[in-house]
Amino acid sequence: MSDAFHASIRSELDAIRAAGLYKDERVIATPQGARVRTADGREVINLCANNYLGLSSHPRVIDAAHETLRSHGFGLSSVRFICGTQDLHKTLERRLSAFLGTEDTILYGSAFDANAGLFETLLGADDAVVSDTLNHASIIDGIRLSKARRYRYAHDDMADLRTQLAQARRDGARHVLVFTDGVFSMDGTIARLDEMRTVCDEYGALLGIDECHASGFLGARGRGTHELRGVFGRIDIITGTLGKALGGASGGFTSASADIVALLRQRSRPYLFSNTVAPAIVGASIAVLDILEASTELRDRLEHNTRLFRAGIERLGFEIKPGVHPIVPIMVYDAVRAQRLAQRLLDLGVYAVGFFHPVVPKGQARIRVQISAVHDEATLRQALDAFAQAGRELELIP
Ligand SMILES: *Cc1c(COP(=O)(O)O)cnc(C)c1O
Repeated sequence: MSDAFHASIRSELDAIRAAGLYKDERVIATPQGARVRTADGREVINLCANNYLGLSSHPRVIDAAHETLRSHGFGLSSVRFICGTQDLHKTLERRLSAFLGTEDTILYGSAFDANAGLFETLLGADDAVVSDTLNHASIIDGIRLSKARRYRYAHDDMADLRTQLAQARRDGARHVLVFTDGVFSMDGTIARLDEMRTVCDEYGALLGIDECHASGFLGARGRGTHELRGVFGRIDIITGTLGKALGGASGGFTSASADIVALLRQRSRPYLFSNTVAPAIVGASIAVLDILEASTELRDRLEHNTRLFRAGIERLGFEIKPGVHPIVPIMVYDAVRAQRLAQRLLDLGVYAVGFFHPVVPKGQARIRVQISAVHDEATLRQALDAFAQAGRELELIP
């Protein structure tokens, strides 16, 4: 009986390998940073972390984590509502609300959990959720868990958004929630929240966004996509992560009106049935907000670095998805060549990852680079030199 089961698992693994889709973990032996050392002892420039602001190993953040470890202990061994809420958790929730321009915030173990616990709690069978086709897996799963009627609009397509909203209204939906990634991680596309807000208002719909690739650096003060698009304070629901720009450890949140957050605290399952965020992470996250509210230096440097890298890679003759986000998709189209480029870059001391079907559409293979505030100009130029050499060798550029 169990033999047959294990044989079927093995055959599934073989099929993944045969399709060239088997993912290996690359082991790193240093903290996160502009350069990392891999377990085989090679130092490489890191162009694939979500460490947008370099806060993953910022000395002030590490100090705050140490201090909190001493003052508040290692773990709480409890969910929030039993005995897992410290003064720090309340402080971080208040600070995130102020940072994001909302009334209240609820912490989760991850942004995946925040999205998983959102839709089921807020929407019933009479309601509708209207979702971008390229939304993150955690949004898709969260929507699946809810009883709401589902509508999908073509990626970033405002005309189709209207069509789907009109359909939801014709179908008699009571409440309608439109939900989108603020930034789409494969293309660096930034949702047009200003237009979306107008459309949602026309149809009496709520607008919610997932800010995992935006919180901390998009917009003039780094508050996120809503700030960049001029609709700060006008988004109904914001979900996000502490695991990317905001320190990079782990933890997520949903930020919204006081009533929405109050209901999530009563009913949201990943909040009720999963452990509280560890004190050291909470203390360090408060330090992150101190840093970001005191100065825009890090997001400014990230913006400068992004501009420098985007201009440099285009000057070399590579084709990139246009935009301003530190996610820079360098288009190769062919999956095998994308993999070869990533491998050659690694030989040349640059760690960047190739993405191909099924992560991106067939024939749209690419190298996705993520720029950080901790990359200095010399490092970025060295990375560009490696791209130049590898690109010429593989005849991707002249
Ligand atoms: C990374 C990411 C998540 C998951 O965040 P975690 O806190 O790591 O669970 C959710 N949504 C989007 C859009 C993301 O990019």
